[in-house]
Amino acid sequence: MINVKGLVIAERDVGESAKSVTLLTGAMGCIEVYVRGGKKSKKSISSTQLFCYSDFSLEDKLDSRGDIHYYYNSSEPIKLFYNIRLDAKRAALACYFAELLLFSSSCGDGSGEVMRLTLNTLYMLDKDVDDIGELERLKCVFELRLLCETGFRPALVGCHVCYKHLCPEMHFNMKTGQLTCPEHTDGVDALYDIVFDEVQLFAVRYIALVDQKQLFGFKISEKYLEWLSGFTGRFVEYHFGKSFDTLKFYKQL
Ligand SMILES: [Zn+2]
Repeated sequence: MINVKGLVIAERDVGESAKSVTLLTGAMGCIEVYVRGGKKSKKSISSTQLFCYSDFSLEDKLDSRGDIHYYYNSSEPIKLFYNIRLDAKRAALACYFAELLLFSSSCGDGSGEVMRLTLNTLYMLDKDVDDIGELERLKCVFELRLLCETGFRPALVGCHVCYKHLCPEMHFNMKTGQLTCPEHTDGVDALYDIVFDEVQLFAVRYIALVDQKQLFGFKISEKYLEWLSGFTGRFVEYHFGKSFDTLKFYKQL
């Protein structure tokens, strides 16, 4: 028997009465858990719904090939993120975050930072967020920081040639993740070259580098938020090599 805190990021029906859920955990990455009678059982119903965060007690069994399978035993809900499910736009954004998590390599390495980022973002999303700009801000933070925590953190401290920290314009290469000052832009691949002004650079640096405790503590104007959302969306598409249907759905609402 093992005990682990986990957040449900996917659920699937198995046969007529059972289901399986994917749990994001800080200690074990993503794990699949089989819930016997899961569709009807009152015992498991609140903890095994999408976006519920609970303390799970699981049975682990080895099969003949040496793979471990996890079975639900009991759970104690910690946070149900109930408000997210009450609002279509917020629910759609949370589904996009879940799809990113399932697709990202975070499912393999058990990163505590990914867990922390996800819970902190859902706590923000669970508050009364009526402002569409605030939802966009959460989207930008989650997209960029998730990539940072899963091995794609760009080198944003300064120009990669002369280490200059700040210029009115800095070139960012999407492919290499490096910054270049205007003096050293020779050879920048135009296709992957994005020019940051100082505000844009500050916003991207902040999200990528600040301690997670302060991650949501910045303000941004409507104009720059629109730019930032385009940038972080492109960053995700570039590194994951695909676009996400859940994002398209969120944008349509
Ligand atoms: Zn330079």
